[in-house]
Amino acid sequence: MSKGINIELSDKIKNLPPYLFARIDEMKAEALKKGVDLIDLSIGDPDIPTPPHIVEAMKRAVEKPEHHRYPSYAGMQSYRQACAAWFYKRFGVNLDAGREVLSLIGSKEAIGHLPLAFINNGDIVLYTSPGYPVYPIGALFAGGEGYELPLHEENDYFPDLDAIPDDILKRAKLIFVNYPNNPTSAVATEGFFSELVEFALRNNIIVCHDAAYSELYFDGVKPISFLEVEGGKDVGIEVHSLSKTYNMTGWRVGFAVGNSDVISALGKVKSNLDSGVFQAIQEASIAAMGTDASILDDLRTTYEERRDVLYDGLTSLGFSSTKPKATFYLWAKVPDGFNSMSFCGHLLEEGGILTTPGNGFGSPGEGYIRFALTDSVARTKEVVERIKNII
Ligand SMILES: *Cc1c(COP(=O)(O)O)cnc(C)c1O
Repeated sequence: MSKGINIELSDKIKNLPPYLFARIDEMKAEALKKGVDLIDLSIGDPDIPTPPHIVEAMKRAVEKPEHHRYPSYAGMQSYRQACAAWFYKRFGVNLDAGREVLSLIGSKEAIGHLPLAFINNGDIVLYTSPGYPVYPIGALFAGGEGYELPLHEENDYFPDLDAIPDDILKRAKLIFVNYPNNPTSAVATEGFFSELVEFALRNNIIVCHDAAYSELYFDGVKPISFLEVEGGKDVGIEVHSLSKTYNMTGWRVGFAVGNSDVISALGKVKSNLDSGVFQAIQEASIAAMGTDASILDDLRTTYEERRDVLYDGLTSLGFSSTKPKATFYLWAKVPDGFNSMSFCGHLLEEGGILTTPGNGFGSPGEGYIRFALTDSVARTKEVVERIKNII
């Protein structure tokens, strides 16, 4: 015991879900200590640097003294206009840059903060699972509860909205969905989004669609925006991120778009907690959103090549998975005789391959593992070779 005050964590922190990756972290540390040539496909962080023209724009912007002061909370007008222009070009949806666009310090921030705007003690936040862990945690921090909507392969990884009990629906204020989906790589259909709009209207529930992977699509098929479907803007918002699209995870920048009342409420929470995005980053982001289409095509081709190597390789080894149409993840069923954790451990200890156990994204992910396509084609081939030797 150290001297001093008795430091006790809040119930909110104490009630955080258990950290499932501790054992994997230990095994990773052991492997590294032994000098194992580890191939790490466990993290959702691009291995490719930010395109040079964005870095150059940042260098110029950082020299301007006007950017050294507090930014505007909602984002510079020029940044919000660039977001609106980007959105119109990509999705054909008109946005009012003043009322329907808000700058974000990465989309994680908005996902974590949104429940503070709408959730009272005991209210429910619906979220799809397996999924990004922040959805239920934001709900918990706001005094609410998360209610898990399981995603299963047989439903093409769409939630069964009709299966939600009435007493849960009565208490639900907010629903998080995410397509293209991390970790399953499923892509939304217009039909599902329309069903979601109807569901939201019928039950008076605000929708937040997490579109972090909207630009990492394959085979030339572009994912749609939730705001493209009729009524989307009436019931919710969509959060976008520059992180995965422009290899800018470290920069912390994104934006929320959609329903002006929801945007304004999120803005109220944020203006009391943070002071906006560094303006130099906003300026570099304007350059990012103007990125030549060919650069993004090259990026998609890079991931697509890796996807093909991994998907074809795993399939030839008898693995069952859906060929990803988007994201940089491949979601695969573990072989018979294993569960998520034990197969992850096996790949790590016997093959020096680090992946993420599916149950780490929520219990419906049990029986699967997630590979991130964040190493070269050569290393991805090596992954397939190594797995061949240990199964
Ligand atoms: C990476 C990721 C985010 C967060 O991105 P940031 O904008 O960097 O905070 C949000 N949602 C999902 C599903 C992600 O995988």
